[in-house]
Amino acid sequence: MRKLGRGPAPKVLVENAVRWTDEFRVSGKPRPESRRYAHKDIRRSLGDMSCDKCFYCERLLKPREGGSDDEVEHRRGVHPHELAYDWKNLYLSCSGCNGAKKSRPEIAIEDTLDPCDDAIEPIDHLDVYVEHARPYRDSLKGEYTIKKLGLNSQIELLLARQRCLSQFWKARGDRMIAAARTGPVSEADAIAIERALAEEFAQPHMPFSWMFRAMLRRSGALSR
Ligand SMILES: [Zn+2]
Repeated sequence: MRKLGRGPAPKVLVENAVRWTDEFRVSGKPRPESRRYAHKDIRRSLGDMSCDKCFYCERLLKPREGGSDDEVEHRRGVHPHELAYDWKNLYLSCSGCNGAKKSRPEIAIEDTLDPCDDAIEPIDHLDVYVEHARPYRDSLKGEYTIKKLGLNSQIELLLARQRCLSQFWKARGDRMIAAARTGPVSEADAIAIERALAEEFAQPHMPFSWMFRAMLRRSGALSR
């Protein structure tokens, strides 16, 4: 998870939110219409915020067309009805995180990290141990977030993080070999190579960038 800046509400929402909310209220239905709150323009605006990654786990999401894996979700639910089409309540979540979130009602969403909260820097609460998420410095918010979103219990997610780390270590090896071809590689060179690579993997568009930010913090090189 990383901090995300929320842009202005998409036009379709600005123009229709009041009417859609009224219609949802009088419909008596438990859920608003997904073709409205997950309208392609809303989905695109949310995707622009996170480089098309899940707001929570940073898994890269598949394009909406042709077998969508992503879900526009309501972070704080849809009651009261005003929340259904409230731009600030719409998040992009993979089905894994969305499902995990719903299965842990005992943990209040308010007790977890909100990637869109200006006052919070998620990396201040999360750490990584191999592919496992850990609370940073015993952060309760970090611990509740990991549990609520199943960040260590979604098997597919753990495997994806493992693959991502393997790519990192393979790329590190390749760079070391390339450097060694041009001359001896000192310990300082090796650290510099690893740090530069971690910086690349920590870029906002990269999947699971938080893991590499945590790695950089460990080496004292975290840049925000
Ligand atoms: Zn996710």
